[in-house]
Amino acid sequence: MERVPETVSGPRDVRALPKAHLHLHFTGAMRPATLRELADKHGVRLPDALAAAGASGGPGSPDGSAGALRADGRDGPVRMRATDARGWFRFQRLYDIARSVLRDEDDFRRLILEIAEDERRDGSRWLEIQVDPTSYAPRLGGLVPVVELVLDAARDASARTGVGIALLIAANRTRHPLDARTLARLAARYAGRGVVGFGLSNDERRGLARDFDRAFAIARGAGLLSCPHGGELAGPESVRACLRDLRADRIGHGVRVAEDEALMAELADRQVVCEVCPASNVALGVYEEPEQVPLRRLFEAGVPVALGADDPLLFGSRLADQYALARRVHGFDDAELAELARQSLRGSTAPEDVRKALLADVDAWLAGGAVAGDRAPRIGAQRTDGQRPRAQRADGQEALTAGAAGHRDGPPA
Ligand SMILES: [Zn+2]
Repeated sequence: MERVPETVSGPRDVRALPKAHLHLHFTGAMRPATLRELADKHGVRLPDALAAAGASGGPGSPDGSAGALRADGRDGPVRMRATDARGWFRFQRLYDIARSVLRDEDDFRRLILEIAEDERRDGSRWLEIQVDPTSYAPRLGGLVPVVELVLDAARDASARTGVGIALLIAANRTRHPLDARTLARLAARYAGRGVVGFGLSNDERRGLARDFDRAFAIARGAGLLSCPHGGELAGPESVRACLRDLRADRIGHGVRVAEDEALMAELADRQVVCEVCPASNVALGVYEEPEQVPLRRLFEAGVPVALGADDPLLFGSRLADQYALARRVHGFDDAELAELARQSLRGSTAPEDVRKALLADVDAWLAGGAVAGDRAPRIGAQRTDGQRPRAQRADGQEALTAGAAGHRDGPPA
């Protein structure tokens, strides 16, 4: 066994651990200060709960306590009890208002660049961000211009930060399945050109998975990953439906599979990744207390896990915070945190050479060597292992990737 140098025997900085971020929503990733500035710019009046976002500190504190959104001015993330319909409605309402401050091209470019900067700071080297272009379309001239703008801005942000960025286009369960089909065709059009997957978000208690099977068939036919939300507000049966009806490659959240041993075994066997978002689960009342999030149960059952922040704007913590929570609340040691990071990278659509380089950086982090930022992802080659993701396999093209050359940012202090 290799001897670990004494200087690195203590807890390593989770922000320096290279990882992939597979569960982040576009508007929900906005900095609280940006939300306020854009609201001012466009004359949008924010409700107290949003106006107070981030008042207790900036996002990015890896102890999960900062950047919190509160209606009552106290510290800690907002609790919305989204497990009942009113709470979920309130959450969606806040989200809609946050969306409404994004009105012109500059807003989108700013948001995406700031997201990439925040990801970089948190050690994220590969980001797959979910966007539903529907609500932005009227202001930007249609669905296609929205996707074109987001892809172009992502390409630029990627080049400037070294974070590889790919897009998941997500349909909304509470809308008509025909709308989802329209979005699936849109996603398919950009398969291999920056869009790598198709998602399904919003309240999984409304809208059966099978109502969206045609949309997902269109997306899968184009080589896109199937990444629906499931097993968050509804139990294991919802995850079964995602697997059966939508052929899910990954499950958004999926934490409630912990209620079903056989299903956990199936996910482990098929290596279906659960995008687990611990802070979100507690903020939305899926679990009362952080220790109830079944992260360790999933991990020990062999279910691959990619930790995610979901909506940092609303839940007050970003990606590195989720790893800090895994350490502090669930007792993950550094070797286990490194394994979580590897699982996120393996579950991503990052091209093979990027993934390999980042996995090596995870090993270096654990060994205490120089990592995270002294080597930007080298982009270009495709996966050759015949495994997921299909997006690359299908057409030999690639996701938006970092302009790796010349990027020399070091890890955050
Ligand atoms: Zn989500």
